Amino acid sequence: MNKTFNKFIVALSIASLFVFPLAGVNGGVQAQDFYPPTLEPYLSADGLALYNAAPTLVIMVDPNPAMQGIKIPAPEVDKALADPVAASATFSITYVVAGGTDLWGKACTTFPEDAKTAFNAAAAIWASTLQSSVPITIKACWASLSGTTLGYSGGQPLRRDFSGAPQGNTWYQGSLANSLNGNDLDPATFDMNITYNSNYAWYTGTDSNPPAGQYDLVTVAAHEIAHGLNFSGSAQYSEGIGSYGYDGFPYIYDTFMESGGETKLTSYTNPSADLGSLLTSDNLWFNGSNAKAANGGTRVKMYAPGTWSGGSSYAHLDEIFNGTVNDMMTYSVGSGSANHNPGPVTTGLLKDLGWVLAGETTVSTIYLPLVLRAPASSPPGDFNKSAPANGATGQLANPTLSWGASSNATSYEYCIDTSNDNACTTWTSTAASTSVGLSGLTPATSYYWQVRANNTLGTTNANGGTWWAFTIASGPSGPTPGFWQSSGDTTEFYVTPDRTTVREFSILVDLPGCGTYWIYRAIPDGDAPISSNQFSFSGPFYASGTFDSSTAAQGTSGLSSFGPVCGYYWDGGPWSWSATWQNDSQPTSMLAHAVGSEFVESVPATEGAYIAIPVK
Ligand SMILES: [Zn+2]
Repeated sequence: MNKTFNKFIVALSIASLFVFPLAGVNGGVQAQDFYPPTLEPYLSADGLALYNAAPTLVIMVDPNPAMQGIKIPAPEVDKALADPVAASATFSITYVVAGGTDLWGKACTTFPEDAKTAFNAAAAIWASTLQSSVPITIKACWASLSGTTLGYSGGQPLRRDFSGAPQGNTWYQGSLANSLNGNDLDPATFDMNITYNSNYAWYTGTDSNPPAGQYDLVTVAAHEIAHGLNFSGSAQYSEGIGSYGYDGFPYIYDTFMESGGETKLTSYTNPSADLGSLLTSDNLWFNGSNAKAANGGTRVKMYAPGTWSGGSSYAHLDEIFNGTVNDMMTYSVGSGSANHNPGPVTTGLLKDLGWVLAGETTVSTIYLPLVLRAPASSPPGDFNKSAPANGATGQLANPTLSWGASSNATSYEYCIDTSNDNACTTWTSTAASTSVGLSGLTPATSYYWQVRANNTLGTTNANGGTWWAFTIASGPSGPTPGFWQSSGDTTEFYVTPDRTTVREFSILVDLPGCGTYWIYRAIPDGDAPISSNQFSFSGPFYASGTFDSSTAAQGTSGLSSFGPVCGYYWDGGPWSWSATWQNDSQPTSMLAHAVGSEFVESVPATEGAYIAIPVK
């Protein structure tokens, strides 16, 4: 553990009930509503890619009876499901398996098959609404959330000043940037991250006809996907002050926002009280030519209630669109309601942002149908898997499977299981993508996998039909030789048994009545060595000390600052602690007492073998 760690604090600033009241007539603050923790943004080395900066947005239950039972079907779903090859864009959806986590660290449970059907239908709506030659990748999680939070999304990567960007010095979300560029600018990162609340009575049919009391998953999923298509911006509000942008650049969505008096948001002093007033003015407008044309020639009113509602304000259409064909992108959905039609205002808005709509004549429509629809003249050509290498051991629990392209292939499917029988139970499509990211695989377990390429004339298995295998590294599973341990009300964290590498160090804090939050997470660029028997963490959480063949080590740890939680502030340490070796040559354990801390909770070792975790 040394200075090669990237550190990011998963701050607590959005977790306060004060910043998340449900505003206005829809009222009804739900004290237990789940909100995921804020992700800390960071830039790539060249400054042209931005991660974790797309705001986390939530979709809430609408308690207003007048907003329930509204049904707006759309022919797009049936059409898209019936003829996926005709879609003008493709989606590659990774459903996190049980035991994996979403981008925010929330544990996922098994994504039900009927829910996958509904989610695929939501993606199909957009696949037949927009055009893109680059598959749009989504990481989808099914998780137990408290309160009236139906789901949330965010954290998608952003890019600026890439080839094909319509406006310079402006951030575009990954899905749109890829489409404009014509290539996947960030193949290792999901374009969208979406999590749903498993506790709800979801209606998973695709017929726009949920009964009273049930929530239509197709509608909610289509809504969240729209946020991942750049229907969200960067504006923030805190204690009267508004701000926008990152690293000095606005998001493309921000550049269309203006006041009732037509003053552009991006011309306001940033940050400023004036901007804060605009964001809570109930008089905020999107002024793009296509959205305006779809709205009867009038600018589009956006949701900007007098009380800022984090996760809802700024990122949705105004409540005046409720009950209309355009209500998919209002901030809440009522039970027994369904809207499977994105609506002309939302599609116009997306076109203003830079999307090419399905059916529009552009350069991409010339070659896209050729790629996706040209009748194959022969079955897919021979191709080979590439990674993980056959027989590889010590793999992380979230490997990426990849393979070379097959000539004439229109889609790929992969199969993975733990049976060494060269047989597949379930093939999973990756659309046209030649890789897929997995997560939540089991430590110390061997997996067997195969990929096949498809077109209308047949199927070709990779490597001439030979399956490949790899083995996940052993993860820490509790007190075993080589860990650092505490006792009683103290922090303990593990290092790998051989003490040579650390993959992640994390601490959670549990606040009674408020839930559990990440407060610190450090991930090294690579596996960081522990050198010279010294260790340290720096930053808002810090700890340091030394150990060697002596019998004791000491250090301090603490938090120098701490965000608001449940409406009040927590102050951190420092907390002192001491450590004792129990083996004077190769340490087998070390006691680390964090005096006065409130660190609790355990973190499962889902990220792979090299994990340091705090446990109570
Ligand atoms: Zn939303």
